Amino acid sequence: MSEAKQYIEQIYQEVKERDSHQPEFLQAVYEFFYSIEPVLSAHPEFIKENILGRIVEPERIIQFRVPWVTDQGEVKINRAFRVQFNSAIGPYKGGLRFHPTVDQSIVKFLGFEQIFKNSLTGLPIGGGKGGSDFDPKGKSDAEVMRFCQSLMTELQKYIGPDMDVPAGDIGVGAREIGYLYGQYKKLNGSLNGVLTGKPLLYGGSIGRTEATGYGLVYFTKAMLEDAKKSFKQQRVIVSGSGNVATYAMEKVHEYEGIVIACSDSDGYIIDEEGIDIELVKDIKENRRGRISEYVSDHPNAAYYEGNVWNHKISYDIALPCATQNEITKDAASTILENGVYAVAEGANMPTDLESTTLFQEAGVLFGPAKAANAGGVAVSALEMSQNSQRLSWTLEDVDHRLKSIMENIYKQVSETAKEYGVEGDFAAGANIAGFYKVANAMVSQGI
Ligand code: GLU
Repeated sequence: MSEAKQYIEQIYQEVKERDSHQPEFLQAVYEFFYSIEPVLSAHPEFIKENILGRIVEPERIIQFRVPWVTDQGEVKINRAFRVQFNSAIGPYKGGLRFHPTVDQSIVKFLGFEQIFKNSLTGLPIGGGKGGSDFDPKGKSDAEVMRFCQSLMTELQKYIGPDMDVPAGDIGVGAREIGYLYGQYKKLNGSLNGVLTGKPLLYGGSIGRTEATGYGLVYFTKAMLEDAKKSFKQQRVIVSGSGNVATYAMEKVHEYEGIVIACSDSDGYIIDEEGIDIELVKDIKENRRGRISEYVSDHPNAAYYEGNVWNHKISYDIALPCATQNEITKDAASTILENGVYAVAEGANMPTDLESTTLFQEAGVLFGPAKAANAGGVAVSALEMSQNSQRLSWTLEDVDHRLKSIMENIYKQVSETAKEYGVEGDFAAGANIAGFYKVANAMVSQGI
């Protein structure tokens, strides 16, 4: 066994013992570790400096209580986290997730992925992530506001424009960012570089809302073109119906692909005529409703309960944009039987390891999340630049930069895979390219 492989196994065993109760985090670490052997073999200094041992341990984790009052006067308690994972190349950067499943394992897996994703953007941002087990579903605006104010009262001690810059993720959109920023400002003054994903009225970047979805499609387009294919007339399934999914569908449509399905956590709709994206936006953004409502406006479409990836129907491209591990082995087999030849991840870690392997063995073009969904955080970094310049760039400018960042990420990932002898394995390419930059920065900054 090579020295690099031995080192990887040793550190993985250590993490597994220490964090045995954190399955999602271990999954992310495992997937990452076992693809970076070539770069460790080529750079023994990373082993000597124990970069892996250091990189899997967050620089800091903050956990705190968030008390808030319901409209009925009941006192509720939620738990919140911020994991400040790695600042080797810039201030901690990453979203906040509000979802009942949020625990330390989830924020650590997301924060870990964020380190390498942020590195791939080529912008000077480190990795972080946070969130709470608060469920915004079914809460009134006033309840969400009180929760956000309480959370920020504590979180504000640990963040800042040059320190740690949160943004949105699942359950945290413009409404939540507005309430969080309002409370931060009350306590610290108008430092609008402290959060990204702000509304345009007070320092938000044009194009941020669309960025993850558009970026995913820019990445996928580059990947398809390299394989002499395109979105034109291709049948596409997008899971989810939130921010990422909606704007991914919009861009696919612009490139003349046909999106035939999207979903939410209860079920999915199939519309052979192509999903009516404006209606999905209206249901999810304005009504805060369920995707099942779609069929009352489009009687030709069908609604099904369950996971869209288990549906048997012929299509070409899969864009999982819902949540982690939405594609497991059986779903992956169905996807392959359906004739899919390209999968690109809009959500973070939507495909589990077995499924990724199945796709790769079948020769499917596979765009890993770290690379494919980096557009959101990339435009967040552009928002930070605009905030420190006190300028607002135009949509053309932001969109042009986003497009070239995503094309550049594809190039980096595919060239790195080639350089390290794993041609076509974009997951390994993304891990190696993202890691190489962070590891070098860590070496040069000393222990
Ligand atoms: N939550 C997004 C992600 O997973 C964006 C984070 C940000 O903009 O800071 O990358």
